[in-house]
Amino acid sequence: MKILKVPYLSNKEPTKDITKDDINYKLPKVTSKKEVKVKVSKDIIFSKKTLPIIAGPNGVESRELIFKIAKYLRKLGIKIIRGHAYKPLTFPYRSSQYKESLDVGMDWMDEVKKYTGMKVVTELTEIKYLDRLLKTSDILQIGSRNMQNLELLREASKSKLPIILKRHFGASLRDMLGAAEHILVEGNNKLILCERGVSSPHTHRSTSRFMLDVQAIVALKELIKYPVISDPSHASFWAPWVPNLVYSSIAAGCDGLIIEMHPDPKNSAVDPLQPLNFEQFKKVLVKSKKLSKLFNKEIV
Ligand code: PEP
Ligand code: MN
Repeated sequence: MKILKVPYLSNKEPTKDITKDDINYKLPKVTSKKEVKVKVSKDIIFSKKTLPIIAGPNGVESRELIFKIAKYLRKLGIKIIRGHAYKPLTFPYRSSQYKESLDVGMDWMDEVKKYTGMKVVTELTEIKYLDRLLKTSDILQIGSRNMQNLELLREASKSKLPIILKRHFGASLRDMLGAAEHILVEGNNKLILCERGVSSPHTHRSTSRFMLDVQAIVALKELIKYPVISDPSHASFWAPWVPNLVYSSIAAGCDGLIIEMHPDPKNSAVDPLQPLNFEQFKKVLVKSKKLSKLFNKEIV
């Protein structure tokens, strides 16, 4: 743990909002004024001018599935595939349809990488999986449920890979930026923050568990110079709403997107209401490319 010699580390006036003292003494790195571009490869950069799209299924269900998806995405020019081999689930029971593919799933992702040249995002759920992830993942995702798992953040940071830090659905931006600062203090500044929906009294549909906090994207962009991305799929939980939430995220200034897709959504082993099918994904991509130009951004 780093000790900073600063006058204001106590919680004398605790607040949910971010104060000047927070910025100066608790969040100095994450709020530093210099723009940080997160480079994954020569042509994949998260920055003010670029907007990479991360797409793929929820879980790496099978070799066949992940290859089918990767080939389709590649054809559309998508360069980053997501898919989790290690899955945090809200409830401890799994449907008989879904088995966590674990290391075998990572082996399939490895093959996909070699075959398509795509970059891979997978979620790090526990430190014990880190070594295996490092062999394949180009970006580590810290899921919302682990946003404040400080030991996990520290170890992820030490890997030196780019990290997507997802906001917990009950966390303030102050808490999220505190978690981000934990990553930065370990010396890894390849940090990408992700808005993925918050718990809210009203989500306007019984199946929608969370509410995409578009305002958080705007607020974060005002506060920090790290890339901020949006995951409308996990926020709305409802595929028909995802396209418009993608467009609203672009309008809010996001620097990247996570969009869940699946060749046969209703038979997706996890969260079948959430992924777009191939055709729907393609349409969203075409429109997003046009829209992002209006905001001086290029989809990469
Ligand atoms: C996911 O990306 O599949 C996921 C579980 O995300 P979140 O942590 O936002 O729920
Ligand atoms: Mn998911």
